[in-house]
Amino acid sequence: MRKLSIAIDGPAGAGKSSVSKILAGRLHYAYLDTGAMYRAVTYEVLTRKVEGEESIISMTEKLDMEVQPGEAGMEVFVDGKNVTPFIRTPEVSSKVSAVSAIGGVRKAMVAIQRKQAEKGGIVLDGRDIGTTVLPKADVKIFLTASVHTRALRRFREITEGHPEMTMEEVEKEISRRDYLDSHREISPLRKAEDAILLDNGDLTLESTAEAIISICEKKFPGFDR
Ligand code: C5P
Repeated sequence: MRKLSIAIDGPAGAGKSSVSKILAGRLHYAYLDTGAMYRAVTYEVLTRKVEGEESIISMTEKLDMEVQPGEAGMEVFVDGKNVTPFIRTPEVSSKVSAVSAIGGVRKAMVAIQRKQAEKGGIVLDGRDIGTTVLPKADVKIFLTASVHTRALRRFREITEGHPEMTMEEVEKEISRRDYLDSHREISPLRKAEDAILLDNGDLTLESTAEAIISICEKKFPGFDR
C-alpha cells in the first residue's frame, strides 16, 4: 500500500489547519496549508504596495516561496524571509480573498502545491484542493460548521493578538470571506462531488482527525502511514 494524498477543503474557521496538522502528525505525513501561501502573497502585495492585477501577477511569479515544517505547523518563507508571523493579521485577512481571486496568482500557487504533493503522503488544506489542485486526491473531505461556530473559534484564536476585534466583527469578516471565496470565477470554494461532507460543529479537533482517519481506513484498509 502507498501513502495517501488527503484533501481537506472548507470555509474559514472550520478547523482545517488544526485538524490537518493533527492528521499529518498521526500519519507521519507532510502538511501543506495552502491558505498560508495565499496569505504570504497578500502580505507581500501589502508591504510592497503593489497595485493592479498585472503587477500583482508579475510580483507573484517572481517570488521565491518555500514552505517548511516549523513549530507552528507550516512556515512560509518568501525570498528567504520567514513571513509566517505576519500573515494572519486583520489587514491580510481582509485582502486575501481579492488577491487569491486573481487567475495568475492561483496558477503560480497551484504549481507549487502540485509539486509538493507529487509523492503522496501529504495532507493539504484549502478551498480548491479536491476540485482543482488534486482532483485525483485519494481522500477528499469538505469540512464545515455553522458560521457562528466558526466565528467563535476564530474569535478565540485571534483575540489574543487583536483584542480590538469584537465577535460581531469576526462573524461578519468570516461571512464576507465565505461569500467572496465561493463566488469567485476561478476555482471557487465548493465541495468536490466525490468529497465527504463532515460537519464538525459538535466534534473536537482530535475527534475530527479520528473521523478522517476512519474514512481513510475504510477506503484504503491498511494504508501506509
Ligand atoms: O485557510 P485560510 O483562511 O488561511 O485562507 C485564507 C484565504 O486564502 C481564503 O479566504 C481564500 O481566499 C484563500 N485560499 C484560496 N485557496 C486555497 C486556500 C486559501 O483561495 N486553496
